[in-house]
Amino acid sequence: MNKRDYYEILGVDKNATKDDIKKAYKKLALKFHPDRNKGDKDSEEKFKEVGEAYSVLSDDNKRSKYDRFGHEGVRGGSGAGGFDFSGFNFGDAESIFEQFFGGGFGGSSRRRSSSGLKKGTDIQISIKLTLEEIAGETTKKIKLNKYVKCSGCNGSGAKNISSKTKCSTCSGTGEIRTVQRSILGQFVNVSPCHHCDGTGEVILEKCPMCSGEGRVREDKTVSVAIPAGVSEGQYLTLSGVGNAGKRGGPSGDLIVIIHEKEHKYFHRDRENLYYDLQLSVPQAVLGTDIEVPVIEGKVKLKVPSGTQSGKKLLLKGKGLPVLNGYGNGDLIVRITIWIPCKLSKKTKDMFESLNELEELKPKSAEKGFFEKIKDKFFE
Ligand SMILES: [Zn+2]
Ligand SMILES: [Zn+2]
Repeated sequence: MNKRDYYEILGVDKNATKDDIKKAYKKLALKFHPDRNKGDKDSEEKFKEVGEAYSVLSDDNKRSKYDRFGHEGVRGGSGAGGFDFSGFNFGDAESIFEQFFGGGFGGSSRRRSSSGLKKGTDIQISIKLTLEEIAGETTKKIKLNKYVKCSGCNGSGAKNISSKTKCSTCSGTGEIRTVQRSILGQFVNVSPCHHCDGTGEVILEKCPMCSGEGRVREDKTVSVAIPAGVSEGQYLTLSGVGNAGKRGGPSGDLIVIIHEKEHKYFHRDRENLYYDLQLSVPQAVLGTDIEVPVIEGKVKLKVPSGTQSGKKLLLKGKGLPVLNGYGNGDLIVRITIWIPCKLSKKTKDMFESLNELEELKPKSAEKGFFEKIKDKFFE
């Protein structure tokens, strides 16, 4: 499913102002409005198309994402071919397979272009990203060994112009039409001609570079721009970057599945990051200024005096960027208090004397901590 360019749909320039876009939209929306074109399917489709283009190009954030990543930059999982820009919807890897084999995009009949030429296959690859890479927009260079159009014959598969002739099986149309009769009536079945691979031409003398296939394998390096904030299992579809089709058939897609490398310090929960910080007993009691890691380095965190174990301290905006929105998540610092197990005689004596102090006895335990929990569970 090749979607038309949004700018092209609205008939405006890539540098069009918001005003230009609005004007173009109004004009086209009026022209294709269902009230004016009752029952005309084509107008209805156009009306929808214009609306979708406008919803993206009129929104600065969506427009800039569209400019950078295109239609299918980041692809929705569920809508086969239907790209939901509003959500930058992602699918997970499993559903890709469903889509491949379950008749979603790609589907059961391999996609064919209107000429009947067979489309090349999709290529699927995985890339591993660090959280640092995910935090910003990254461009990854990916090496692929894939089919590309043969330069010797420009994809035709024939040695030269005169070394091909009209296919007699399909009379040069590239299609075979068969009339089928069933109890439901008669219908015409159109399928690509196998004799000529849907090209309408038979090769008399094959191109020596590709042995008549019209494509050759080559090592290619592809740059893939990855928006900030992606996560494990999401994928991007690069339309037309997959394998070239035989004898000039269009190329399949490149599907890039995102994997996330485990981080030394952080756990991730969507756009929020968690960091576990251990404090010594005196640090927790007295409070301290302590350095904690963040994605872009380190920051000083103020730990107030009397910080309890299990307390969460928030570093606002120090998480990851929100994939399809504005701003960043937070870094949540979870405090645990480190209890020493081995003590020197001197330290042990100090603790012994601390243990005498009335003010160090837990006050909250008066009613009985477990009693309270029991109350909660059985009320
Ligand atoms: Zn060739
Ligand atoms: Zn043919």
